[in-house]
Formats: sequence, structure tokens, C-alpha cells
Amino acid sequence: MRYSQMLIRTAKEIPAEAEVISHQLLLRAGFIRKLTSGLYTYLPLGLAAIRKVEAIVREEMNRAGAQELLMPMVQPADLWQESGRWVKYGPELLRFQDRHNREYCLGPTHEEVITDIARRELHSYRQLPVNLYQIQTKFRDEIRPRFGLMRGREFIMKDAYSFDVSDEAAGQSYQTMRDAYTRIFQRCGLEFRAVEADSGSIGGSFSHEFMVLADTGEDTLVICQECEYAANVEKAKVVLLAEPASETTDDSTGEVQDCIKVETPGMKKVDRVAEFLKVTPQQVIKTMIYLADEEPVAVLVRGDREVQSVKLKNLLDVAEVELAEDDTVWKLTKLPVGYIGPVNIPIKMVADQEVMTMINAVTGANEKGHHLTGVTPGRDFTPVAVGDLRQITKEDRCPVCQGALELTEGIEVGHIFKLGTNYSEAMHAVYQDQEGKEQAMVMGCYGIGISRVVAAAIEQNHDENGIIFPLPLAPVQVIVLNLSIKNEETTATAEKLYQDLQAAGIEVLLDDRDERPGSKFKDADLIGIPYRVTVGKTWEKEGKVELRTRRDGTTTLLDYEQAASTITTSIQDELNALK
Ligand code: ATP
Ligand code: MG
Repeated sequence: MRYSQMLIRTAKEIPAEAEVISHQLLLRAGFIRKLTSGLYTYLPLGLAAIRKVEAIVREEMNRAGAQELLMPMVQPADLWQESGRWVKYGPELLRFQDRHNREYCLGPTHEEVITDIARRELHSYRQLPVNLYQIQTKFRDEIRPRFGLMRGREFIMKDAYSFDVSDEAAGQSYQTMRDAYTRIFQRCGLEFRAVEADSGSIGGSFSHEFMVLADTGEDTLVICQECEYAANVEKAKVVLLAEPASETTDDSTGEVQDCIKVETPGMKKVDRVAEFLKVTPQQVIKTMIYLADEEPVAVLVRGDREVQSVKLKNLLDVAEVELAEDDTVWKLTKLPVGYIGPVNIPIKMVADQEVMTMINAVTGANEKGHHLTGVTPGRDFTPVAVGDLRQITKEDRCPVCQGALELTEGIEVGHIFKLGTNYSEAMHAVYQDQEGKEQAMVMGCYGIGISRVVAAAIEQNHDENGIIFPLPLAPVQVIVLNLSIKNEETTATAEKLYQDLQAAGIEVLLDDRDERPGSKFKDADLIGIPYRVTVGKTWEKEGKVELRTRRDGTTTLLDYEQAASTITTSIQDELNALK
């Protein structure tokens, strides 16, 4: 590839619309262009990086015994009605009608279509296990598409589905995929971690997410310092410590007091109310109003805690929960924001388990400018459901071994699920066992966000000058800079090096543009090409070319004759080390 002929347009300025670094750099380095919200064109360099991820994924899926197929992106509603998800999936599913008024959706995932294939093609235990996968564009009408490739509405996913004769066999398929995923992300050259995860709208009983570790990650992980436990905070179980009740009383006697209404003018926030009434935030019960599939629900947590919305969604068994805006709260409930509390509240109410251990708490009085003191759960109010609803913190303990926890940020790039027989039972995907009896196939499903992997790699690997691609994901491995295109000898050398590297199977970009050296260096850094070879002054003076690595900036002078073979060997060694 010759730079002068390629569609690469870089930019110095940080695009105003891009909040996270991968989005900024993908735009600045000319990898993607936005069409409209959540929809991007992958320009040649962007597509090249995506193809790198795809190739690794494909190789490892094939090695694990999975078979590639390709399903339609448009899916008929009746399959989704069979599985029950036409109603359950919520507004992320983009639904539409054809000219005959038949209903369809754009595939956000393919459990229904693959289960339909399985029930038509697989009939005997002799045909199982089977694992089928595809690499394809998905559409999800995300509530907040953002961060470029990280959370698009259209994105590329690898999705695989396994079919087995029993739970035990499905467990094996799951383990095979877990191992394959580990190899995939290792081979991508990424720092990652597999964690226990929530199963979300895909359903199923058991799942792990693969997280690329990066400060800018949207997900938070808890990792036990003492045992193997690692989980997404959406899933991480909070264990109640034994003593909280006595801690939350507002006197030392622990006696239950009467519930009294007190004036708290203008005190809307937990900290201010607590200070005003001379208690700690731990003695306050915070009442948050959420919309659960449009219905207002009051959610109670201790004053110093945060609601974990995925746990809330699971407890309520709804498709979506969202914190209600202040004016929505007023419109729907006529409750005064800042003074809402659980006693005699006229809407559905649920509570975090910890709240139920409190006594003599402070809560809103459902009357402007007033709070209640001496509130005791059970006596003064009864939620319709109680559960683990709060965000875990690093002061909590490991649910497995009680060890200390660490919290860290990550980007979800892969997700594997044990589905069991949810889909096969709903859609009658059965096989005949050895005795000729009909049994439901036991399923698993396994996704990788191919386009998100590219963004995650950049979030994890960049500096102030641009992207630092891990070698396996770089759109090109080497850039050869010809620093004086007007000098015939320099040009001939750069050309020869370019040809030799190509002949050795290396992916190389020749910067043959009529540009100042400074801007050539800048662009090579911004694009993040792992190896840079410069043919310039040192070649003219000493007959040597300069090799520089993008990651650590080390430079070596090479005799021209050795250059191609030295670079080829380093690249091969580096790739082999990841295998
Ligand atoms: P998230 O929690 O980030 O919304 P998810 O749990 O909905 O992800 P899955 O249904 O498990 O995601 O999809 C499989 C993979 O597809 C994810 O692990 C992720 O890498 C990728 N993915 C999901 N949604 C998006 C999106 N909107 N844009 C880009 N990649 C995505
Ligand atoms: Mg999602």
C-alpha cells in the first residue's frame, strides 16, 4: 500500500463530539466516519483493523471445532413471538413491517434464528454436539449510543451457539469456548480478565464476560485479592455483615423509637438532611424513584449507598429501568422530590436487604420540607420485594471467601452464556436420545464485539501522540518513511525495502507522500503502526536505515541489506510469543 494512494485523512484537532480517547483517535487517524447517531463507516484503515480481529476469532473458533455460517440480519417477528422475546426485549429491538404488513426486526442477536435452524437440521443425539457461529453486523437501538465503536447501534459481532445432549455436555462446550476466548484475547495482545456476569436479556443461568482492562471502561469489576473470584459489579453479590443494625441506630441504647415528623426546610440531599438532624448518612434511608418499563417504582437504599440498576431490573423482572427525572416524578406520582420516603408511599416499593436491618432511620415524609425520624422497616413500611440491590464497594467482602476486594474498570469485549433449554423448550428444538426419546437440546451462546475490540485495544494502548496498536491488531505492521522523495537513491531504497518486506509476507505501508518529515512522523505515530523504518539522512550519510518501535520508542540503525530480514524476524517472533 502506498500512502499517496490510500484514503487516509488524519486530523490534529480533537473532534468535539468524541468524549473517549478511542473515539477521538479513530476519527483523528482516519479509521471511521460517523453517518449518524451510532452508525459508522469503517474506512480502509479501520476495516483493516477489524479484519485482524475477525481473522484471529475465526481461526480460534475453527480450532475449537465451531463451524461458520451466516444468517439473515432481518428476522421475522413470529420466531421472536415463539421465544417470548418479541414482548420482553424492549425498545432496543428495532421493529418494522414489510409491504405486506408482516412484522420483522433487525437482529440484535440470533438465538431465535439459530434455534430454528437447529430444530430443522438436528434430530438425533448422533449429530450433537454442534457449535455454529457467524461474524455479522448487528443492530441494537441503544438508548445512548456513544463513544464511537464502543457502543454503536450497528456493530460487528461474532456470535456462536452450541447444542448439546445434556447439561454436562453443555458444560464442556462452555469450557471449550471459555478456553477459545482466552486464546483469542491473548492473541490480540490485550490485557483482559474473565468475570462472572449478569445474563441480561439473552437469558440463561450462568455467564462470564471478558473484560479488557482500561481506566475508561464502562464496566466496573470486583476482583478478590485472596481467591479467584472476579465479577461484574452488576452481578457481584453483596454479603450483609452481621452487625449493621446497631450501627444505624441514632442512639446507643438500640431501643426502637416512635416515628416523628420534623421540619427540614430546603434539605433535599442525604448529606444535608443528616447534618441538619445530627445523624450520619448511614442512618438515612434514601428513596429513589425509577421507571421500570414506564411504571414508577420507589427503591430504598441506605443513605450512603448507590442503587445497582441491573440488580434492580432483575428483581423487578422488567426489560428496562431508568432513574426518573424530577419533573417526571412529580408528573406521575405528585411526590415532592427530595422529601420522598417509604412510609405510606402510594407507589410500588422495593428495598435493598440492608435497609431492612435498620432501625430508627431518617426518611422523607412525602411532604415538602419535612422528613421523618424514628422510622423502622417492617413496623412503618413494608416493601413488596427485598433483595440485593446496591452497588458493591471495595469496603465489602468477597462473597466466596470474605477476602478483601479491589475494584477496577473494564470494557466488555466478549460474553459467554449457558442458556440451558430456555430457547429449545420454547421453540421445540428437540433430538432423539439413544432410547428414541425426545429431549430438548441444551444450548449455550457466545458473543464477541469485534468492532468494540478495536476501540478497547485503543483505550488500553495509546499515548499523547496517538494509537499504539498491539501488533496482532495493527492495520499494517510496518510503515516505511521515504523522507526525501526528490532524492532518487533514497526513493529507490525505500521502494526496494517496501518490496522486500512485502515479499516476506509483512504488511507494509510506504509513505511516499510529498510531505515534511515532521508530518510523516506524526501521522505514523497517530495511526499507531508498530514498526517504523525511516530512509533519510542516516541512509544518505552512513548507508543505514532507522528502525523505531511505536510502543517504547527504541531506535536501531540497520544496514540496508539486513533491514527487511531483521524486521521480518522481530514481527514473527512477537506474534509467535502470543500464540
Ligand atoms: P453491553 O452490556 O455492553 O450492552 P451486552 O451484554 O448487551 O453488552 P451481548 O449481548 O453479550 O452484549 O453481546 C455480545 C458482545 O457484543 C458484547 O460482549 C460486546 O462486546 C458487543 N456489544 C454489545 N453491544 C454493543 C454495542 N452497542 N456496540 C458495540 N459492541 C457491542
Ligand atoms: Mg447491551
